[in-house]
Amino acid sequence: MDVMCHAVESVTARRYTQRAASAAPSARPASQGANPWSDLGCKEAMRLLAAHLERAVAGDDAAREQVMWAATLAGIAFGNAGVHAPHAMAYAVAGRVREFRPAGYPDAPLVPHGMAVAVSAPAVFRHTASTAPDRHREAAVLLGGDRHAQADRTAGDQLADAVIQLMRAIAIPNGISGVGYGAGDISALVDGTVPQQRLLGNAPCELPPSTLAALFEGALSYW
Ligand SMILES: [Zn+2]
Repeated sequence: MDVMCHAVESVTARRYTQRAASAAPSARPASQGANPWSDLGCKEAMRLLAAHLERAVAGDDAAREQVMWAATLAGIAFGNAGVHAPHAMAYAVAGRVREFRPAGYPDAPLVPHGMAVAVSAPAVFRHTASTAPDRHREAAVLLGGDRHAQADRTAGDQLADAVIQLMRAIAIPNGISGVGYGAGDISALVDGTVPQQRLLGNAPCELPPSTLAALFEGALSYW
């Protein structure tokens, strides 16, 4: 799911053309935003994940090889484009863990990184879709979402649906409530997210604390 988020966040990040035109090259961030080169690796990674992730998690070595290739492609791409809100929110989701102990990990409170980014992703993409509906819709289809979604499904809903489908297929917890948070934790989660300005600044729209609170509320549970 971390690979999935690297790919989808990179293609939905603030476009490289939206950097301030006056910014001197030396002042530009290393994460320059979505660009044609990073898009290539991200889109292939999404296609590979749709085809192989579920079997890879089940232990199929050939599928794992394909997911490792997806991880490599999305890794190089996000090193160039940068990720955004799900990764920013994951700092708080992982950092403020209380009692969540996932099976298969050391017996200690822990939200593994892939879970920490995934649990907020559908809520974020529902929100960011209006900045670039076609990019969100294309990501949904590449991830295995419904190519012929009903006309009344927004691009954000389509991408959220595709991510939720992957989450359910590999038993990712159901939103932030699935890793132990409730509505009463949202202000603390926002406080833990606001310092991640490098990532929040790479989102395709402004995400002030009030919006982050709404995103965490939308991420409480999905099914
Ligand atoms: Zn990551």
